[in-house]
Amino acid sequence: MTVRRGTCPGLADPMPTGDGLLARLAVARPIPLDIFGSLCAAARTHGNGIVEITSRGSVQVRGLTSKSAPNFAASVAALEVADPTGGRVLASPLAGLDPYEIFDVTSMADRLRDFLLDSRLAATLAPKVSVVVDGGGVLHLDAVPCDIRLRAESTGSAIQFEFMITNEVTLGTMAPEHAIKAATELLHAIAAHGPEARARDLPHPADFGRQPRAGGETARSPVQPIGTHPLRDGSVALGIGLPFGHSDSETLQRIVEQTQRAGAAAVRPAAGRVLLLIGLPPARASELAVKAERLGFITNPDDPRRRVVACSGAPACAAAEIPTRALAPAVAAAARPETRLIHVSGCAKGCAHPGAGDVTVVGIGGRCGIVPNGRAQDAPIEFVTTEDLPGYFAQRAAMRETAHG
Ligand code: SF4
Repeated sequence: MTVRRGTCPGLADPMPTGDGLLARLAVARPIPLDIFGSLCAAARTHGNGIVEITSRGSVQVRGLTSKSAPNFAASVAALEVADPTGGRVLASPLAGLDPYEIFDVTSMADRLRDFLLDSRLAATLAPKVSVVVDGGGVLHLDAVPCDIRLRAESTGSAIQFEFMITNEVTLGTMAPEHAIKAATELLHAIAAHGPEARARDLPHPADFGRQPRAGGETARSPVQPIGTHPLRDGSVALGIGLPFGHSDSETLQRIVEQTQRAGAAAVRPAAGRVLLLIGLPPARASELAVKAERLGFITNPDDPRRRVVACSGAPACAAAEIPTRALAPAVAAAARPETRLIHVSGCAKGCAHPGAGDVTVVGIGGRCGIVPNGRAQDAPIEFVTTEDLPGYFAQRAAMRETAHG
């Protein structure tokens, strides 16, 4: 099965950043190891070799130039890995492989992608309009923001899909066919509302044939993509995290080689800044995890680096006031273990995490503004220098320990 041909918008129109142009591509299914190796080589040949996996599971390649970016796009097009809708449809990353999934949503997601391309809505909707098609299982997509969410439910002998606008309004449950039809109608309606419109801007969601009912979503355990996940065919997938969402093409190629030697078939970038190594013999997974850890990847879900989110920061981003990724490891090591989320943001834009963190560190005027329980846009209560930032977190942790005996 191949991805339908077309130009991924994030490749055709790369974004200027502090270290050159940034190209983003979404993938729709597992990538064979040799193809992923070629993608890494292209990132090194045409860019600066830095490769990122985003919170939504997209791949970003940095350091392209206006001359090299078209060559990179052509290389990626030849590899046929990029989703030509630019990630507008997100499906479960182990769809069709996960023994715990409720429904294999692969073909539903493909039909929605085809619809977006055929209707040309993929090119005209606001850039962030997206549909999540969630078949359930160990890597469900409840935490991934979207405009339209189709969530599989098993109701006795039948599979139904809960149809939601964002995570807030449930329009009802329906059979897969009806869910696709309702999603396409809703996408048309969003487009008719203007080029900047999102699903939340629609005035009357009930017009789509169902009565809204408040937040009908049943809470599921948060996803933990790091670690070993059994697959239907008896093999396993190993999820490894990219520290603060980034790595480099050479390190990625080395893990590809190790993965190949361990007998796996493919990789799949996944939500949560994770790379899934797919199709391993179960007996080889722990050995590969040790090798991944030696290469700097995160293999333990409790690794403190998982609690820190950092944007690219200085020098990669021209707007950055502080070197976020240089600061992030020391912050992770010094922070209290019970801190759930520290956001280190190079400036008040807060690209890496739009919501509130337990603590947000925001670069302002070359110093670190401290925002407890807030966002990068909120006013800091105090400032520390970049040199003093790890000490600040260590001191807070020590004070807390003293206070609690
Ligand atoms: S938050 Fe600011 S510094 Fe960080 S990537 Fe976004 S614009 Fe750049």
